[in-house]
Amino acid sequence: MPAAGAAQPIVAGGEQAPPLAETGRRALGDAPVEVPSTLVDGGSSSEPGEAGSEGTLARVERRVALMGTHLDLAVEAADRAAALAASEVAVTAVEAAEARLSTWTTDSELARLNAAPPDTPVELSPELAAELAAALTCAELTAGAFDPTLGALAGAWGLRQGGREPGAEELSAARAASGAALLELAEGRAVRRHPGVAVDEGGFGKGAGIAVALAALAADGRAERAVLDFGGQVALWERRPGGRPGVVVGVADPQRRPLAAAVLSIDGGSVATSGNGERGIVAGGVRRGHLLDPRAGEPAPDWGSLTVWVAAWAPVPGGAALGPAGHALFADCLSTGLYVLGPEKAIEWASRRPGVEVLVLAPDGRGGVVGLATAGLAGRVEPVGHRVRVDVETRGKTGNETLRAATGLPETKTRAAVATLVGSGPSALPNPSPVGSPAGAGSEEEYR
Ligand code: ADP
Ligand code: MG
Repeated sequence: MPAAGAAQPIVAGGEQAPPLAETGRRALGDAPVEVPSTLVDGGSSSEPGEAGSEGTLARVERRVALMGTHLDLAVEAADRAAALAASEVAVTAVEAAEARLSTWTTDSELARLNAAPPDTPVELSPELAAELAAALTCAELTAGAFDPTLGALAGAWGLRQGGREPGAEELSAARAASGAALLELAEGRAVRRHPGVAVDEGGFGKGAGIAVALAALAADGRAERAVLDFGGQVALWERRPGGRPGVVVGVADPQRRPLAAAVLSIDGGSVATSGNGERGIVAGGVRRGHLLDPRAGEPAPDWGSLTVWVAAWAPVPGGAALGPAGHALFADCLSTGLYVLGPEKAIEWASRRPGVEVLVLAPDGRGGVVGLATAGLAGRVEPVGHRVRVDVETRGKTGNETLRAATGLPETKTRAAVATLVGSGPSALPNPSPVGSPAGAGSEEEYR
């Protein structure tokens, strides 16, 4: 995930804030920009006297260590005490999600399910039942490219130990113990249908955390608006959407993680990115990615990065059970699953789903980055710097001609460049780092 701690606004939204895209351009220019997840939050408190439906709002920003990463929250409410109290409600909800979902401990609800005897129904909390149902729905929608039940496979490849090469027998045993069919969910109960099947929350835990935080803010009633950045996954929630500028989210260069290659302007919902470049493993002396292709039983090719935006209004499968914020969990699952499907299939998948938009970025082999985005990102995505080219798919006549003119690359050519990177196999990963880290105890690092 992008370097924790990087989410400092580069340009603060303020009075007479220009439209977001303009703000981004003015702020970023062509110079390399360190990649905070949230570059511009155009919705900071109204100036006194500024006409706004909520009048003057107080804003509280804080950072809390959770789920082995950082949660950065900016919460706005009628006054500071209310914003502070609301932010605490959100943090408490994420702490509860961590206590429920972490498999870095043995005493979470999910860890206990993973250790439960096979063929025996296990009663689940409504929260875990909804989260698992949503994750399994995502597995179905991505034809198994996203698979929350790949714990055995993740263990075989040593994802949490920096990587290892499994032997052929071990690998086939792990493959036999992975797969959504091995975990049955019905009426609030789960049954493990294989003694080795285990749920790995790595691909949906942060999204679940954001989802419960936003649901808690909505239910609590005090917050008017919140921007969350959880280890690089960003969400914008508003009690009354549409009144203010949204946020600009930085998307890292897949090969030079600290630098932004593109920015996305969103007016709600959640943005998640998956890529192999930042958290690689070493298996049999070879650098591989930490995203597994469950269908192949091995790490997915390291082709670049995939960013998915699930709009606040997007229909979310399983969303009813998850409440209004299910899109955050969906975005987390989808970024992983669509990355595994590969850039072309991912773009095609998302172009058929309203409210789900995808940006794929890949090295162009000459030190630059080439990107392709679905039509709904027209006018919302901007390359950063001259070495980045982003093209946007056209849907009817809605293609972003301005952007196309700026990148100077015809759509077909960009598509071809992206396509050639598919299946190119593992390549050198910069800055290999241990995969993940034990879940944090929820200690508070900074508070302002
Ligand atoms: P990050 O945690 O860096 O934001 P992701 O959201 O893509 O990245 O999640 C990666 C984690 O998901 C891996 O570390 C692993 O625990 C798990 N995982 C890897 N491959 C898959 C997959 N195909 N389906 C579901 N989970 C996966
Ligand atoms: Mg994910």
